[in-house]
Amino acid sequence: MLIGAHVSVAAGFPQSIDYAETVGCEAIQVFAKSPQQWRAKPTSAETGAAFRDRRERSGIGFVCTHTAYLINLGSEDDALWERSWRALADELDRAALMGADATVTHTGTNRSGDLEAGARRIADGVRLALETAPAGVLLLENTAGAGSTFGTGPEELGAVLGILDVQWKERLGVCLDSCHAHAAGWDLSTPVGWHAFTTGLERCCGADRIGVVHANDSAYAAGQHRDRHAWVGAGTIGTAGFESMFADPRLSAAAAIVEMSGEVPEKDEINVKVLKALRARSTQR
Ligand SMILES: [Zn+2]
Ligand SMILES: [Zn+2]
Repeated sequence: MLIGAHVSVAAGFPQSIDYAETVGCEAIQVFAKSPQQWRAKPTSAETGAAFRDRRERSGIGFVCTHTAYLINLGSEDDALWERSWRALADELDRAALMGADATVTHTGTNRSGDLEAGARRIADGVRLALETAPAGVLLLENTAGAGSTFGTGPEELGAVLGILDVQWKERLGVCLDSCHAHAAGWDLSTPVGWHAFTTGLERCCGADRIGVVHANDSAYAAGQHRDRHAWVGAGTIGTAGFESMFADPRLSAAAAIVEMSGEVPEKDEINVKVLKALRARSTQR
């Protein structure tokens, strides 16, 4: 697994790679635009080229973007739903300009409580976004399972992919957030929990679909449906849990990205370092 962090682009897109290098990243995740707003000025061809050029001259082996939090592909509100898939298409276009390897998105909420209806609504939105944006791989992220959020586990993500895979398989995969899975009830402090989740993904989504692992520890106990990230080894998943992650060969092709709060550069420097030490102790190289 390449190891890295979600890094800020506040100082500029190429500068985000300068920072990533100083904290030891081999992979990064960035927001292609403000995550809290619908609107943003377009990503210019020059900005995209400057980022791609800087990346070429770096040791960063994997780049993904994360979409805005407002996107809700499961919404029953037609206006919000359309706004969401159009925003998703825009995110894919921005990611393509930046030469990103993938784009991670949350699927949103669906109040129907019906797995099939929720999956169909989301799949319809994803399909329209993929038809609109000509390129880019989209990874659907699992959620902590609070309220009516969709995508808590392998079954829900698999239900969406199952609808779309006939036509769009090459452009679709999943992102496994360890804090979210742990919060949703898979106890990732144990090898059994990891095995259950990754085996579930393999069964419901197919093999080799995991492009990114958000390697976040959890501040709350497993199954509490509370999404609060903790530094790697400092939460209820713990170092033993992340050792299990590195021990699973099905995750070895995925990039491990930490999404931490705290002071820069320590939050990234330390978490990347801890993960690298755990990887070095595993059979993975
Ligand atoms: Zn996310
Ligand atoms: Zn995440």
